[in-house]
Amino acid sequence: MSRWLLTALLLLWPALTAVADPPSSRITGLRFGGGQSQTRIVIDSDKPLTFQTFSSQGGEARIVVELPKVRWSLGGLTAESGQGDGEGLVQTYRYAHNSSSSSRLTLDLRSPARLVRSFALPPAGDDPHYRIVLDLRPIEPTPALTAKTSPERASAVRPSPQAAAPRPAPDPSRRPLIVIDPGHGGRDPGAVSSSGLREKDVTLEIARLIRDELVASGRYRVALTRTRDEFIELEARVERARSLGADLFISLHADAGPNSSVRGASVYTLSAEGEKRAEEVRHRNDWILDVETDSSRPREVNDILADLVQRETKTQSSRFAQMLIPALSDAGWPALANTHRKRGFFVLLSPDVPAVLLEMGFMTHPADEAMLVSDARRARLADGVLAAIDGFFSRDAPLLAER
Ligand SMILES: [Zn+2]
Repeated sequence: MSRWLLTALLLLWPALTAVADPPSSRITGLRFGGGQSQTRIVIDSDKPLTFQTFSSQGGEARIVVELPKVRWSLGGLTAESGQGDGEGLVQTYRYAHNSSSSSRLTLDLRSPARLVRSFALPPAGDDPHYRIVLDLRPIEPTPALTAKTSPERASAVRPSPQAAAPRPAPDPSRRPLIVIDPGHGGRDPGAVSSSGLREKDVTLEIARLIRDELVASGRYRVALTRTRDEFIELEARVERARSLGADLFISLHADAGPNSSVRGASVYTLSAEGEKRAEEVRHRNDWILDVETDSSRPREVNDILADLVQRETKTQSSRFAQMLIPALSDAGWPALANTHRKRGFFVLLSPDVPAVLLEMGFMTHPADEAMLVSDARRARLADGVLAAIDGFFSRDAPLLAER
């Protein structure tokens, strides 16, 4: 990501004074997203709001949001106080006026959780609301990210507060974080070859191998979107990469085709149609870009910056694809014609993490199938992926270190 470009643009923009709280904002909505591994709470209001948060973990765990005096209009009902059921890490919520000049929203937690970030946002897209966004994480690490890893590796992949914060503190020693996404899993086997080989097993085994190769190089941190045979929604795979602050996302798949003579690997990046979908998905999921969290800038500026981030992400995705294809060929891995392809695959929709989807070969071609299960060929594939990643980060190393 070209942070320097964004920084330069921001410096050119005149500073603007923050908006003071107007009297009597109306809280019009309270929304929950995510699940037990991360819960997002979005508070909608008709005017900008300042807020403060407090958490208490002793006894009953809760997060308290202090607001100036507001009007509560939740669920179409205007009331002085009320309560309801939460989702994910939030068991229930309560709201009331706290004094003549302040109001309070209390989130009673199911289990201890920490507030990893909170920020206010102006209206965006078709949504006319101002928003306060709170992200909660369990105090225990997410099992899927640490399962079956050595202590050293577990600490390498555990999300740090810096990774989740909107603007991480600069850390020159920060190694790039690669998120590898083994396609399919659990009830979704993916493609199945005539001999009964399942895509979900191939992708997981090769993902682990690539992870071990990258970690052994000492140059990267690696997280997998799944470490065992489980079903994970596509949205959750992208969300995991984003919330960890991934620098590169690689989704692994193996193709199937009606014609058993078709073989070879191909690399997909986001298509033009996919970009439109990406914008919809971004708003639906409240995927906030770092540049959007500064409400001191006019909304138009944040929109321009968000657009730049997405374009830069697309450029970087293509640049990695262009490095991966020759690296695979050097590793003796056959390629499909028109090896670099574009599609609107859901896992490619992250607005701020460069992403490719690697179709490693055809389960329906006997020679490809043999390669996909051969230890020696798999090792060469992992070498090729490492070489491409080395190439990708060598040029950007100084820029990435600034993140
Ligand atoms: Zn697949």
